[in-house]
Amino acid sequence: MSKHLIVGGGVYGAAVAWHLAKSGEAVELIEAGKLATGASGGPGRRGVRANGRDVREIPLMVRAREIWPSLHETLGTEPLFETTGQLQLIEREIDIAPAEARAALQTRLGIPSHVLSSDEVRELEPDVSPAIRAGLFCPDDGVAFHEKTTLAYAALAKEAGALLREGVEAEKLLERNGKVLGVLTTNGDEILVDGKVLLFCNAGVKGLVSPWVDLPVWSRTFLVAVSKPLENNPVRHLVGHASRTLSLKREPDGRLMISGGRPGIWDPETRTGTPIQKEVDLNVADAVATYPSLEGMQIETADTNHLEAESIDHIPIIDSLPGNTNVLYAVGWTGHGWAIAPAVAEMMANWVLAGQKPKLLEPFAFSRFG
Ligand SMILES: Cc1cc2nc3c(=O)[nH]c(=O)nc-3n(C[C@H](O)[C@H](O)[C@H](O)COP(=O)(O)OP(=O)(O)OC[C@H]3O[C@@H](n4cnc5c(N)ncnc54)[C@H](O)[C@@H]3O)c2cc1C
Repeated sequence: MSKHLIVGGGVYGAAVAWHLAKSGEAVELIEAGKLATGASGGPGRRGVRANGRDVREIPLMVRAREIWPSLHETLGTEPLFETTGQLQLIEREIDIAPAEARAALQTRLGIPSHVLSSDEVRELEPDVSPAIRAGLFCPDDGVAFHEKTTLAYAALAKEAGALLREGVEAEKLLERNGKVLGVLTTNGDEILVDGKVLLFCNAGVKGLVSPWVDLPVWSRTFLVAVSKPLENNPVRHLVGHASRTLSLKREPDGRLMISGGRPGIWDPETRTGTPIQKEVDLNVADAVATYPSLEGMQIETADTNHLEAESIDHIPIIDSLPGNTNVLYAVGWTGHGWAIAPAVAEMMANWVLAGQKPKLLEPFAFSRFG
C-alpha cells in the first residue's frame, strides 16, 4: 500500500485526508501551526454561495450543493450548514442587465437564480436603503461553520487511520533522481512517501512549487468585522452587493458579520494580521449605507489573522507539478474556496484513487495561462 503526504491542515487537507483514509489509503498530514487556523479558521461563518461565481466554478458548486445540507450527518456533528439564500443587492442601473444575464446562465447550469424588483427585494430584506433598485437572488445558498466543519473532517480522518501532525512545517519539496518523493521540514526531518504529495497549504503552496513553476498567485488577509449583538439585526439573508465591497451575515446570536474582501496588514514573522482602522470604517460605512438602521452599530472584533492566496484570474489553480504527476496542488481560492471545498476535496481524492484528473477540475489547470 502506498502512503500519501498532505501538507496543510485546513479544510482541503483535512477533507482529502478523510476521503483517502476511509478508502483504505495510508495518509500523513502535516500542519505548520494548528488545524483549522488558516483561512479555514476564525470568527463567524463562511458563505456557501453559488451566486456571482465564475462560470467555471458553477459545476463544482452544483456538486457542493448536493453535499452541504447533509454533511453534518456524514461527519456526525450538529448541523453545520444553514440555507439562508444569497441576495446580491443592486444599487446602480448599470448592474441590472448583467444580473439578468447571470440569473439566466446560473439557472441553466443548475443554480436557480432570479432577478428581483425593488419591491421583491424589500419583501426579503425590508430594511434596505431606498437606494437599492433590484437584487440577484439564489434561494439555495447559505452559510456554514468553517472551523467546526474543518475540525470534524480532521477528527474523522484520524478515526479512519490518518496520522495528523501539528507544528510540522514543510520547508521544501525533496527531489531524488528528478522525482519529488516528500518534504524536508523546518526541523530538518525528511518525510518520504511512495504515494502522492498533496499540497493544500494555501499561502504556502507558491513557495514550495517555485523551483518548478511560477504560480500567478499571492497571499493576503481579508478583514472580518463582527458587531456587538444587535437588538434588531436587520439582515435576514446572506447579503452581497454588486458595487460595494460588502458581504453581510447574520449570526445566530444576533451579531452581524461584515466582510467582503477588505485588506489587513500581515506580519510574516508572527503570522498574525493587524486590521487597518480605515478599512474597518469603510466596511461599516458600506453596511450602514445599505442598511441605514445599522447607524451607530458597534464593532466588537476586527480580525485579519487568516491568510488566503489569490490568483490572477480569481479562480484556483489545481494541477500536478510539471514532470511530477505524483505531486498535486490546489491554490488561489481568492476568498471563495470554502463553499466548493466538500466537492473539490472529493474530486481531489478521486484523482488520487483513480489516477486521473476529474473532468470538472480541468478548467483549473495551470496551462490556461499558456
Ligand atoms: C476572512 C475570510 C473569509 C472568507 N469567506 C469566504 C466565504 O464567505 N465563502 C467562501 O467560499 N470562501 C471564503 N473564504 C475562503 C476560504 O475560507 C478558503 O478558500 C479556504 O478555507 C481555504 O482552505 P485551505 O485548506 O486551502 O487553506 P487553509 O485553511 O489556509 O489551510 C492551509 C494550512 O496550511 C498550513 N501551511 C501553510 N504552509 C505550510 C507548510 N509549509 N507546511 C505545513 N503547513 C503549512 C497553514 O498553517 C494552514 O493551516 C474566506 C477566507 C477568509 C480568509
